[in-house]
Amino acid sequence: MTIEKKKFKKVLIANRGEIAIRVIRSCRELGIETVSIHSTADEDSLHVKMADESVCVGPAKSTFSYLNIPQILSAADITGADAIHPGYGFLSENDEFAEMCEKWGLTFIGPSVKCIQSMGDKIESKITAKKANVPTLEPIYVKDMPESEIESQVRTLGFPVLIKASAGGGGRGMKRIDSFDELWPALTRLQEEAKAAFGDGTLFIEKYIENPRHIEVQILADKHGNVIHLGERDCTIQRRFQKILEEAPSPVLTKEVREEICSAAVRLAKFVHYDSVGTVEFLYDQDTQKFYFMEMNTRIQVEHPVTEGRTGVDLIGEQIRHAQGDISRFKQSDIIFRNHVMEFRINAEDPKTGMPSPGYITHYHRPGGIGVRTDDYIYTGYTVPPYYDSMISKIIVQADNRDNCITRAKRVLNETVVSGIQTNLGLHKEILDDPDFVSSQFSTNYLSKKLN
Ligand code: ADP
Ligand code: ADP
Ligand code: MG
Repeated sequence: MTIEKKKFKKVLIANRGEIAIRVIRSCRELGIETVSIHSTADEDSLHVKMADESVCVGPAKSTFSYLNIPQILSAADITGADAIHPGYGFLSENDEFAEMCEKWGLTFIGPSVKCIQSMGDKIESKITAKKANVPTLEPIYVKDMPESEIESQVRTLGFPVLIKASAGGGGRGMKRIDSFDELWPALTRLQEEAKAAFGDGTLFIEKYIENPRHIEVQILADKHGNVIHLGERDCTIQRRFQKILEEAPSPVLTKEVREEICSAAVRLAKFVHYDSVGTVEFLYDQDTQKFYFMEMNTRIQVEHPVTEGRTGVDLIGEQIRHAQGDISRFKQSDIIFRNHVMEFRINAEDPKTGMPSPGYITHYHRPGGIGVRTDDYIYTGYTVPPYYDSMISKIIVQADNRDNCITRAKRVLNETVVSGIQTNLGLHKEILDDPDFVSSQFSTNYLSKKLN
């Protein structure tokens, strides 16, 4: 198959906030013009000011704006864009949208529709991973299964188990279950919830791992069959299954396990002919030192700057080049890993409950100095709207080793000021001071234990 080579002149970014700005920056360095889209609630947003032009695609509610496919395609049409970058969240893993882009003669900056379809669904992708000889947790497919059969399979697995929505994402659609009394009502409720939230009520059950780390591997692939990894990220610090602090390298992996997990990710990406940036997520059981494939995110991820810090590779720049049909500029041996990097997700939220706390920012001071990067979209005088994700800033810190990274991160977070709204900045500072965090002795349950 011959790959059509293109040169984008103009890219439309179908997203908002920090990731829209992040994409604008890479486009600019590549000499590509940018079009942003916005809802009526985002007229004062920085991504609108920073893009070369912006088109209003609808009212505040994202189903009418950032998820409004006809409006977004029309915006690309009237501005003469060649390609659409979906960012993360919103339409980034929507195969119908990717397909429609191609039908309209627009390049979807991401993997092929086939890759999104085969890896986007948690059940489908487990089947694929198994075929690729990548270890996964055996799922119980509850669909159309009689209760007696579910009961006997769960008994074999043993509690605790986890119910998951096949189409779930963003840490939603999941529940840990410890007994049959909990199981039946939870299945009914989660099925309804998943249908409402993701448009698909398909659920499955798998073994709940009690003491895991979340380890994921960054993949970089082009349309010519070249697949490499850019190392792992450890995203174990989570609140309600949502990542809040990510770091690399993982402090718990041995050289051997690191090599195994990275090559498993490459093997899976090659198996599905993956052709863009993507992330293969694993659970690493600290008790048995075994890892299991969890899901693949067929898009750029929130925590990609951690890997950019470790490798110096502009992941979004390469993603755009690969969408143009360029051959990858990197071989595996070109990737050199250095430093320890941590990313802190700063959310506009009530630190006690974790509930969103949008509103007017009376003062924002962004940290600076050696080893710091901030990817944010807020400014003094900006009002964080209540309609979207609560993440307002990512602070990325690097130093020559983990201890120095922690020391530097404390300095950096102490410099940061966000006034007028509540944030989780204080929680991050507490984590950095905690001996269990410093000694890397924690699992994904870390915050649920600490916050009690
Ligand atoms: P990452 O793996 O990049 O860290 P997250 O799981 O934090 O991704 O999700 C990134 C963003 O996308 C968040 O704003 C999250 O709420 C949103 N998101 C991810 N998947 C979905 C989904 N299936 N439905 C709705 N929102 C999602
Ligand atoms: P999402 O699409 O929401 O990102 P994932 O399948 O990636 O969903 O899982 C999100 C988080 O839930 C993981 O990072 C992990 O902390 C937890 N998790 C998922 N599967 C299991 C499991 N089998 N046992 C324990 N924790 C799990
Ligand atoms: Mg995940």
